[in-house]
Amino acid sequence: MEGANSVVLRDLNMNVIFKLIQHRGPISRVDISEQTGLAASTVSVITSELQGSGFIRECGYATSTGGRRPRLLEVNPEGGYFICADLTGSNIAIGVLDLSFQVTKEWFQEKAGVSGQSLYIELVNALSEARDWCDTQGFKILSIGIAAPGLMDSSTGRIVAASNLDWHDLDLNELLEQEFALPVIVENDTNAAAYGEFLYGFENEQHGRNMLYIAIGTGVGAGLIIDRSLYTGSLGMAGEIGHIVVSDSGEKCSCGKRGCLETVVSEPAMIRKYNNSAKTQAITIRDLAERAESGDDVAVDVLLGAGRTLGIVAGNTVNILNCDSVVFGGDAVTSGQVMFEAIKEGLYEAMLPGLERNFTARISSLNSTAGYVGIAYSSLTTVLNKYGFQVAR
Ligand SMILES: [Zn+2]
Repeated sequence: MEGANSVVLRDLNMNVIFKLIQHRGPISRVDISEQTGLAASTVSVITSELQGSGFIRECGYATSTGGRRPRLLEVNPEGGYFICADLTGSNIAIGVLDLSFQVTKEWFQEKAGVSGQSLYIELVNALSEARDWCDTQGFKILSIGIAAPGLMDSSTGRIVAASNLDWHDLDLNELLEQEFALPVIVENDTNAAAYGEFLYGFENEQHGRNMLYIAIGTGVGAGLIIDRSLYTGSLGMAGEIGHIVVSDSGEKCSCGKRGCLETVVSEPAMIRKYNNSAKTQAITIRDLAERAESGDDVAVDVLLGAGRTLGIVAGNTVNILNCDSVVFGGDAVTSGQVMFEAIKEGLYEAMLPGLERNFTARISSLNSTAGYVGIAYSSLTTVLNKYGFQVAR
C-alpha cells in the first residue's frame, strides 16, 4: 500500500517539478524546493531522474547568496518530441513539438468531405508521415496526441460522438496505440486549445484564475477554465456556446435546432453570408477578414454583425461566470481587427457594470498552435505519470 502511494506521489511530484522548470527555468534546486514546498532531498532525487531521462539539463549557475553557487536547471527541448494532430478545421493539422512545446515541424492535409473510416485512414497516414520524419531526424517520440471536435471520454480516449467527423463510439486511443505502439492521448479540441492558451499563452498568470476561451472555426466552441482547472461538465459537454439560440427564426443548425450562434458566427456561415452579396467570392475566412481590413464594405458588414452577436453571447456568459478573461481564437479574429472590435463592443455592452474590473478580452496569442500545446501538455502528464520510466530507459 505504502509502495503504491509513494509511486503515485513520486509521479505527481515529477509532474510538478518538470512543469515548474518548463515555466520558470532556468531555476535552481533550492528555488524549486522553495516554490513547491517539497523537501530538498525529494527535489534532488526527482531532478536527477529527469536529468537521467534527458528531459532537463544543467545550464550555468545562479548568483551566490553565500557559499557555493547553485547550478541552474532548464528543460532540454530535444529530450523528447510529441506528435500532435488537430482535427479542428478543414484539414488534419499535424505538429511535432519539442519538450519546451515549440512547434518544430508542421503539416496540413486537406480533409474536406472526408469523414468516418476514410478520415481515420487519412489520419493514420498523416501520423505515419510525421513519425517517419521524426525517425529520420533521430527524434525520440514520447507520445501521439489528438485534438478532435466532439464529445469524448478523455480518461479512456474513446470518442463518444464527433458528428462533424462521423466518428461514433470509436476507441481512437486504443486503435492508434496498436497502430503506432506509442502512448496516445485524445482530447476535445476546444478544451485542449483553452488549456494550452491558459497555461502557455501570454504571460500565463495574466489570464487570472478563471478564463473563458472561445474558438471560431467550422463551429463555435468554448473551453472553460474555472479556478485554474479545465471544467468539462457532468458529461464532458460543457462549453457548447455555439448552440446558444440567438434567433428563434434563424437558419437551421447542424444540431437540429434553429438560429444557433453557430449559424451566424462560424466560418462557413460568415463566408456564405459574404458570398451571397459580394461581387467576388471569398474562399477562406482569412480572405474575408483581409478584405474587411482593406475596406470592403460587405466584408466589414458581415464581420461587424457576427462579431457583435458573438460579443453579446460572450458578455452574457461572463455575467454567469464572473471570469477574469475571455480569449478569442480563430483566423476570423487573428487575420484582422474588424471582428474583434465588434466583439468587444457587444461584450462590454452585455456585461453587468462592475464585472469589467480586472477583466480583459484578448485575441489568442497561440492561435492555431493552442490545440497542439494543450494536447502536448496532457500528453506530458501521461508520459511523466505512466510511461516516464519506460521512456527514460
Ligand atoms: Zn445548434
